[in-house]
Formats: sequence, C-alpha cells, structure tokens
Amino acid sequence: MQNRHLRFLTYFIMGYMLLAFVWWSFLLFTKNRDAFHAKIELQQIGMAAEGVIKSPMDFYVSERYQELVTSYRKQERMIMGETIFLSLSLLAGIYVIYRGYRREVASSKQQRNFLLSITHELKSPLAGIRLALETIAKRGDQLPPDKRQMLSMRGIKEADRLNKLVEDLLLSARLESAYQFHQEPLALEELIERIVLQQSQQNPAAEIDFSVDTPLSHVNGDRQALTSVVINLIENALKYSSQPAKVAVSLRQQEDQLCLEVADQGIGIRGQDKKQVFEKFFRVGSEDTRKTKGTGLGLFIVKELIKAHHGTIKVRDNQPQGTVFAITLPIATAKEERFSSPVV
Ligand code: ADP
Repeated sequence: MQNRHLRFLTYFIMGYMLLAFVWWSFLLFTKNRDAFHAKIELQQIGMAAEGVIKSPMDFYVSERYQELVTSYRKQERMIMGETIFLSLSLLAGIYVIYRGYRREVASSKQQRNFLLSITHELKSPLAGIRLALETIAKRGDQLPPDKRQMLSMRGIKEADRLNKLVEDLLLSARLESAYQFHQEPLALEELIERIVLQQSQQNPAAEIDFSVDTPLSHVNGDRQALTSVVINLIENALKYSSQPAKVAVSLRQQEDQLCLEVADQGIGIRGQDKKQVFEKFFRVGSEDTRKTKGTGLGLFIVKELIKAHHGTIKVRDNQPQGTVFAITLPIATAKEERFSSPVV
C-alpha cells in the first residue's frame, strides 16, 4: 500500500515537471516573440528618426530587420531543442524508475515465495521423519513388521527429499561460481532410458513414453549434470499433470546436435510465465495458493547446466494441452570422442 502511494507520488511529481516544462517553454516562446516585435518597433523608430528609412515599411527590407529575424529564429530553435531534450530526459527517467520498480516488486515477490516454499519444504520432511521415528520409538514393539517397515521407508523417503533440497540449494549456489564439470562422450539415449525406467517404477500410475530416432552420436557431457537435467524435466512433467500423467520423451539427431523433448499434457505454462520459469526461485502463481511441492530451483539448475554444455533450452505449449521442454546439445567432436578431459 505504502509502495503504491510512493509510486503515485513519484508519477505525480514527474507529470507535474513535464507539464511545467511545456508551460515554461510556451512562456519563453511568447516572451521571445514579444521581445522580437518590441525590437522591431524600437529599431523602426530609431532608423526613422535618423532618416535611414523613409516609411516604416522600408524597415522590413533592411539588413537590420534580417539580422533580427535570424536571431529570433535561432532563439526559437534553442527553446524548442531544450524543451524536447528535457522532456525526453524526464520520460527516460520515468521509464528507468518504472522498470526498476517492477524489478524490485518481482524480486521481493520471488524472495517471499522462496522463503515460504523453503520453510515448507524444510519443515514438512522433518515433521515426517520425526513422526515416523516417534511412532517406532513409542510403539515399535507392538507394531507388525510390515507396518514398521512402511514407517522406516517413509522416513527414508522424507530424508531423501530433504537431501535433494539441500543438494539443489548447494548446486545452484555453486553453478553461479566455479563449477567443475567432468565431461566425457556419453550415449544420451542410454542415460535417458535408465531414468525413464526408474521414474516409471517410482510412478507406476504414470505413462512415460520414450522414443529414440537412431542412430545417434555421442554428446560430450557431464553424466551427473545431464542426469539431473533429465530427472528434473520428467519429475516436473509428472508433478504438473493431473493423474494418471502422460509424458512423452523423445530424442533425435539434427545435423550436429541432439534434440531432447519432454512433453506433458498437464496444466501448461502461461505466455508471460514462460519467460520467467528459468529464473532462480520463480514458481508460477503465489505460494499461498500453490499446492505442489517445490522451490523454483529445478529449471534454474537445468538452464545453467545446459548453458555449461553449450546447449539451448526452450519451453512451448503442447497440443492440445500441456508443456514441451526442448533441449539441444552439440554432438561430441571426433577429438572429444578420443580424449575425455575435465572441463571447468
Ligand atoms: P519447482 O518445480 O520446484 O517449483 P522448477 O524450477 O522446476 O521449480 O519450476 C519452476 C516453475 O515452473 C514451477 O513452479 C511450475 O510453476 C512451472 N513448471 C515447471 N515445469 C512445468 C511443467 N512441466 N508444466 C507446468 N508448469 C511447470
């Protein structure tokens, strides 16, 4: 609310200054014109008294008159130039302030979203682990073995979730400084196949389809990084789809690059949000209304990893609904195929 008042006040002052410029320029114009006419009259009288001209009309063909006109036009151009320059500077200032304000608002919204989601993401697995351990500690002797096993598995799953969150946070911080990639020639189709199998086992209700257009060249990549990219995209496709989720993963070669697409038929991403989903901590909508778990780090990490592999990532709508994430990665050169060396 306070922000809105401040913004309104800023625009009011700027608007007032703009109008004041225009008004003062208009006044200067009229004063300049009045001064010009006054000078003409004065010169006319002077020249007539000196006998240089016979009638007042003779003055208008004199050299003196031409000089006055030239000086008058020059003053007029100066006033016009100053008005345009100052007004444009003011408009540019308004634009810069407006853009800065929008950025500030977006960044504070993101910070708020991040704090809310991170608090939730940290607290909920901890609560899950505590509950599971507490139940085992209190009633462990009376519990049937299968129930005890189920509670232990739940605790492990929650600990894994916590671990992934911490790893994502550390990885995103490291990606912004110096991160060591260990690149080697990789058969991307094998890596994806393994992940698709794993994800299908973990989500038996989901339908994850993988199609490959062989033969494919290798890419020169970091196994762990590319695994993280594919897992992130498939997990998102599952997470943002209504059940049972349908995900289509495809891989093909186009000249000297591999094209990987992960398409879902889920909730989709609106036009303006598509530009922002790769930003750190960005999540569509507001944390108060959002039901899914997440921190807004996944796609940021994916984008940074793909960038480090000299690839590209794009997002578009799927038909009739859902989202497609399309990645391109350059294929390994003959030299890279022969030597695999760590690259920073
Ligand atoms: P997280 O999933 O942890 O929120 P991400 O960085 O992976 O973070 O994704 C950022 C946001 O992009 C998500 O919060 C979600 O709103 C949107 N998003 C990502 N993938 C998809 C998808 N396949 N379908 C719809 N929305 C998506």
